Amino acid sequence: MAATVAAAAEAKGRQHTGKAVGLAAHDASGHLAPLTITRRSTGDDDVAIKILYCGMCHSDLHSIMNEWNNAMYPMVPGHEIAGVVTEVGKNVTRFKPGDRVGVGCMVISCQSCDSCDEGFENTCRGGIIFTYNSVDRDGTVTYGGYSTAVTVHERFVVRFPDAMPLDRGAPLLCAGVTVYSAMKHHGLLDANGDAPAGRKKQKHVGVLGLGGLGHVAVKFAKAFGMKVTVISTSPAKKQEALDRLGADGFVVSKDAEEMKAAASSMDAIINTVSANVPLAPFMGLLKPNGKMIMVGLPTKALEIPPFDLIMGNKTLAGSCIGGMRDTQEMLDVAARHGVMADIELVAADYVNTAMERLAKADVRYRFVIDIGNTLKNSE
Ligand code: NAP
Ligand code: ZN
Ligand code: ZN
Repeated sequence: MAATVAAAAEAKGRQHTGKAVGLAAHDASGHLAPLTITRRSTGDDDVAIKILYCGMCHSDLHSIMNEWNNAMYPMVPGHEIAGVVTEVGKNVTRFKPGDRVGVGCMVISCQSCDSCDEGFENTCRGGIIFTYNSVDRDGTVTYGGYSTAVTVHERFVVRFPDAMPLDRGAPLLCAGVTVYSAMKHHGLLDANGDAPAGRKKQKHVGVLGLGGLGHVAVKFAKAFGMKVTVISTSPAKKQEALDRLGADGFVVSKDAEEMKAAASSMDAIINTVSANVPLAPFMGLLKPNGKMIMVGLPTKALEIPPFDLIMGNKTLAGSCIGGMRDTQEMLDVAARHGVMADIELVAADYVNTAMERLAKADVRYRFVIDIGNTLKNSE
């Protein structure tokens, strides 16, 4: 496979001379095992990065199991990448070797459509090329951050603020920007990424599903002065949600009494649930004009009776990661507010067990792979 990749790239004039080791899935069993891969040599606009940490997003799990029916194997997942610059191309102005940097879900976009011009590469009209499982411009398939090194166009690299540790900051590259951008672009924040100054009434936001995205959503919403209620299937998460994450309330979604007590109380709900669940009971938690903001990506079509949407003038919205400007802004805002992920740092050889636990919502609250110390540059 590596030889085929290199040949395809060279045919299009881009050399894949770099070697790296990735953790690859070879089929829909999702089992990950070390694989030697190639990385392209550093182009004029490129930043070459030694990967030190990579967060494990539920999208990685959906992808390796082919739950979205788009898997290309072998697949090296991972789009919450944190590391150190090793080399830069001659046009690169924002980074130099030694810099602490991150890469999220995208590695290139068309860079010329109206979305890209406005900093919303995440809605690029030409189609985003994702960090893994996408066909890159040179015809090769992208490999993600469960690997020792990556080479990425400067535009898609962000700088880690000094106050942000690489390990606890890595999950912000996807989980963080996804919930931050959802809040910002659906009216919960002002243009500078904070709660609107002088707002008379505190917004009440529900966070549905307390996993990787959900726990960061709680932290950002609290940092921005909102009232936050977690809506969860896991009563065992209640105490730490209240005590450690700072949530104001916790509703067990299977408890009819608790759901009734919370009815019609929330301005918005950020729905991070990774599984197919009916939306109707949760629409009832929204105030009139409330918004259900979908970020979770379960496999089947959403189920929502029209009356539950229309009565009370509710909005059903979606939000896809965030643009590069928002990603850098989010990291800077997070560093200022001390928002970082709660992580379980794991060795590369724990990754399959970690995936099994992630599938059971058994993680507090993001697995991060200690790539730098546990994944060696040879198989
Ligand atoms: P995660 O860590 O696994 O968290 C998902 C949470 O959903 C779980 O912790 C659990 O919370 C809840 N949940 C899981 N199974 C459930 C079920 N059967 N019924 C009800 N609740 C259930 O996942 P994540 O990494 O935060 O990702 C969440 C979703 O967002 C995934 O689908 C992922 O693909 C998607 N995503 C989307 C974007 C985007 O751009 N829109 C970006 C990143 C990820 P409780 O234990 O509290 O119930
Ligand atoms: Zn993700
Ligand atoms: Zn574009």
